[in-house]
Amino acid sequence: MEWRYRCPACGFEAEPEPVLWQCPACAGELLIDGLPDRAVDASAHAAGIWQFESILPVETPSAGTLLGEGDTPLIPFHVDGVTILLKLDSLLPTGSFKDRGAAVLCQYLKRVGVTRIIVDSSGNAAASMAAYAAATGLECTVYVPASASPGKLVQARAAGACVVPVEGSRDDVAAAAQQAADSDRTASYASHNWHPVFVEGVKTWALETHRQLGGQLPDAVYVPTGGGSALVGAWRGFGAVSRSLPRLIAAQPEACSPIVRAWQEHAPVSRMEAGPTIAEGAKIALPSRPLQIQRALSETDGRGIAVSEELLIDTLKLLWSRGVYVEPTGALGVAACRVAITNGEAVPTDTIVAHVTGHGLKSTPVIEQIMNESV
Ligand SMILES: [Zn+2]
Repeated sequence: MEWRYRCPACGFEAEPEPVLWQCPACAGELLIDGLPDRAVDASAHAAGIWQFESILPVETPSAGTLLGEGDTPLIPFHVDGVTILLKLDSLLPTGSFKDRGAAVLCQYLKRVGVTRIIVDSSGNAAASMAAYAAATGLECTVYVPASASPGKLVQARAAGACVVPVEGSRDDVAAAAQQAADSDRTASYASHNWHPVFVEGVKTWALETHRQLGGQLPDAVYVPTGGGSALVGAWRGFGAVSRSLPRLIAAQPEACSPIVRAWQEHAPVSRMEAGPTIAEGAKIALPSRPLQIQRALSETDGRGIAVSEELLIDTLKLLWSRGVYVEPTGALGVAACRVAITNGEAVPTDTIVAHVTGHGLKSTPVIEQIMNESV
């Protein structure tokens, strides 16, 4: 498959190369250019996300999928007088949307001869990368903040990953992982926040949504946004099936909303230290793909919406009470949509999709606390 890495900031270009994950010229983000721009029929055995193999950077695994990734439901949900559609990526194999990116990235790295991956995460990406490393036969080491809650790491350890705690900030953890990868030529830094192949897997959530809508585009799409891979994935996925794109809305917690702030101020994305929030997965002070995130918003007439903790908790309780069990970060899109309904920006005649990114079983201690406080 003929595709290349390109840096949207400085124009650097390179052939695909297993150890490359960041622009070597300017330390910026990389994206992939040169994939076919329209999905065509996949191999007969391709299932789940691999039905879109013609626009993925790696071939379908021999069994059709690795762990059954893809084909998540799109269900109607009535809220504040409007029916929205929930894309339940909480039901992917490890319980988060990251499985889409992890499946494609691990399959790609295995094919190009990598034997060991190094990642940094304290939550869903660790579990997802560990599971797909196990499924593809890659060794996996996860660098985590020493302060990370052990509960979030059990899943990664159960999948056989070696978990290495690092003292210091989240940036220190990423630096330790990058250093470890640099010093071992058999290893690849397989960061969900940086690696361009990861986003190409994530984009399948938009391709599936388009197919589930009978080949129509929604009017607006609300996406929980931390590092931005789900948002950038939506931009690339919808962009692969249509020239006109749905409005993409980045939903962030007020306590950590660097993308919303940049959108409001028409300014570049800059660091915003996270305040307290139950939306743990969105506590990213400085996303690694700022240029693609901003293009996703500007090219789709999109916007950023910051969600208060109070509205997020209210939205979670509403979802849970109707049997939709999501983790706090995963409800940011629905909560942001409620802000837009209140403002009159989202109306009943619109086709509205909210990405539900993670399962409630990921966050039992936090959910228990919310439930206890509400009795
Ligand atoms: Zn560059």
